[in-house]
Order: sequence, then C-alpha cells, then structure tokens
Amino acid sequence: MEKLAIEGGTPVRETKLFYGHQYIDDADIAAVTEVLRSDYLTCGPKITKLEERLCRITGAKYAVVCSNGTAALHIACQAAGIGAGDEVITTPITFAASANCALYCGARPVFADINDRTYNIDPKSVREHMTEKTKAVVAVDFTGQAVEVDELLEICHEKGAVLIEDGAHSIGTRFRGRCVGSIADMTTFSFHPVKTVTGGEGGAVLTNNEEYYQRLLLFRSHGITRDEALMERESEGPWYYEQVDLGMNYRMTDIQAALILSQLDKLEMFSKRRKEIVKRYNEAFSEIPEITVQEEIPDSDTTRHLYILRIKPEKLAVDRKGFFAAMAAENICCNVHYIPVYRHPYYEHLGYKKGLCPKAEKLYAEIMSLPLYYAMSDQDVEDVIHAVKKIVENYRIS
Ligand SMILES: *Cc1c(COP(=O)(O)O)cnc(C)c1O
Repeated sequence: MEKLAIEGGTPVRETKLFYGHQYIDDADIAAVTEVLRSDYLTCGPKITKLEERLCRITGAKYAVVCSNGTAALHIACQAAGIGAGDEVITTPITFAASANCALYCGARPVFADINDRTYNIDPKSVREHMTEKTKAVVAVDFTGQAVEVDELLEICHEKGAVLIEDGAHSIGTRFRGRCVGSIADMTTFSFHPVKTVTGGEGGAVLTNNEEYYQRLLLFRSHGITRDEALMERESEGPWYYEQVDLGMNYRMTDIQAALILSQLDKLEMFSKRRKEIVKRYNEAFSEIPEITVQEEIPDSDTTRHLYILRIKPEKLAVDRKGFFAAMAAENICCNVHYIPVYRHPYYEHLGYKKGLCPKAEKLYAEIMSLPLYYAMSDQDVEDVIHAVKKIVENYRIS
C-alpha cells in the first residue's frame, strides 16, 4: 500500500491542482482590448450582441445581461413581483444567493429537501412546501444537471407561482433536447470565473415572457425607462426619461460582454472536455464501493460544472474532513459545495433550524468537489483518481 502524503509519504503530484480555473486565450484578450480602444465601455454594442447571442444559443426569446449571477436572481425575483409576506421555495444545496434573492425582496425563503441520488431539489418536496404564499420556486441545476423542469413548471403553474431556474452551473446543458434558458419562466446564468463561461463577473436572465423582459430591463437600471409606452406622463422632450419603479444599477460593462462573447465561441469545446473528464471520473469511481457516484439524470444532457465525490463514511475509517485533508496533502485541492444555506449563522438568526432538510445535511457531511475544468490534462485527471484510490485503500474498513 502507498503511504499517504499526510502521513509523510510522497504526494501523488508535486504541484497543486486547483478545483476550478478559467481558460483565457488570445482571442479573449483581443476581444477585451478592442472594447478598451472603442467609444463604449458600458451600455454599448457588445451588450446587445451578447443578449442576441444568448437567445440564439439557448432558444430563449429575451435575454437581459447584468453585473453578476446574484443580480440576475434579484431582478428575476423583482420581475416576478415577489414582495413582503411572500414565500420562495429553493434548495439548501446551493450558493447562498439562490435564497438571498428572496430576502432582498422582503420574502421568506422556504427550503425543500433534495433527491439524495441526483442532489437536485426534489419536486415532491417542493409540492409539499407550496402554500398560498408561495410566489416562486428557485430551482438550481446543481453541478449542471437540469432540474425536472417540466414537472416543476406544472407544480408552479397550478398554484400561480413562477419558476426561476438558477442555471449558474448549467450553461450548455440540454433538458429533453431543449437548452437550459428556454424552458423555465426565467433562467439565470452566472459568468463568475469558476463557472463554465466567464466575464470576470457577469450574469444574465433569460425568458420567453415579454412582460418579465420589460420589468427585468427596468430593475437592471434604476427603474428608469426611456420607452414612452412605459411612462406615466407625456414626454417633455428628447432628453426625457422617467423613474417608474425602484431599481438598481446592475448593468454589465462592454468589457465583460466582449469577454463572455469570446468565451461563448468556446462553449462547445468547454462542454466536450468537461463531459470527457466526468466520464473518466465516473468510470473510475463506480468501481470503488466506498464512493457514491452522483446519479446521471437521463433527461439532462449535461455540461458539468462541478464533480462531487461522495464518500460512504460507514465504509471508511476517515470522515470527510480527514479525506479532504488527505487530498490536499496529495496536492489535490478540493472544495465543498455546499454548506446547506440555512445552516449559516445569518439564517439561523432568522429562525431556521438544523434538521430542516435531512438529506441535504447528510449530503453535506459526505462530499467534496474534485478538480473539474477545461484546461485539466489527462495526467491531472489521472492524478485525482490516483489520490482518491490511494486514500480509500488506506482507510478502507475490511
Ligand atoms: C455562482 C452562483 C450564483 C451567483 O453568481 P455570481 O455571479 O457569483 O453572483 C448563484 N447561484 C449558484 C448556484 C451559483 O453557483
């Protein structure tokens, strides 16, 4: 048996491997410098071009780009008319922003439990948590696998609620042949550097609904309109605009838009490589009885953002914390996605208690995210597998 690096053995690799990393090429750099030499740094032609491109890629009718994925969730909630006293159902296994967007609007996030094989929100649990106050469901395509959009749409529309799909992980994913972005009432994307496509920061909301589209535009920019059809009074002249609601400044710069446009040229390539790596991981880990492999959703043709390694603690003489530390000593840097949102102190102070979603809490205790990004070499992937096997062999309870 190989001696673990954490116990003084030789690490699987000499240099650190990070869990995620952006891929920027010369075309990206040229696209950004072109904007820097142009007349518009913000609100210029790249914004329209990016919105058109996102519609073309996803098949959605309308796209509104904004400063980041959190802003996208916020304006989506505002466009859905969410306010004080409303409830918004979401999953605990997500980044806090998926629930915070409800709080921004004065609404209360309600947490539905997950399916413990796919780790996505469980439509059955969503149905159980629907009340008269439910205004929206924020469903997260966790790791990039699409939620059961058709079933969730049916549950929402029965009760007059809006389905917002948080697609921060799932750009490039198709559900039953349709692209994420074109199916739910509204879908949000994030272009943070760890996501599949980046703009440094950036976000977008996609919808097929014109009314939502108009409201998204308003809330992105102060609640101000220059469209006479949306004004309360008659125009006083060519300079005239009106603030008709309370919005934010969530605009995206042309610098970000140019980078995202250039990155989208590589989406197919990014997607293909991520699929290859996931396939190799799945093959290797499905042979290890101490590891649970996340179940593939057959309806989802997935561009995977995260790869979750789930250990079976009852079969190992090490817990997640120890496994994570052993991986780090082998120079494989992992991460954990996610601490159940309601377990954060801020949520605890709001009255959310441990035990609310038992499947989500059990998942959190057993997982870590392995390196997964476009630029990983085959050797990097084999190093990760090697490290996992080495650690499992050392801690196997036989
Ligand atoms: C990254 C992320 C967000 C927030 O996106 P930002 O662009 O970082 O604001 C929201 N939801 C999920 C699931 C995410 O992973």
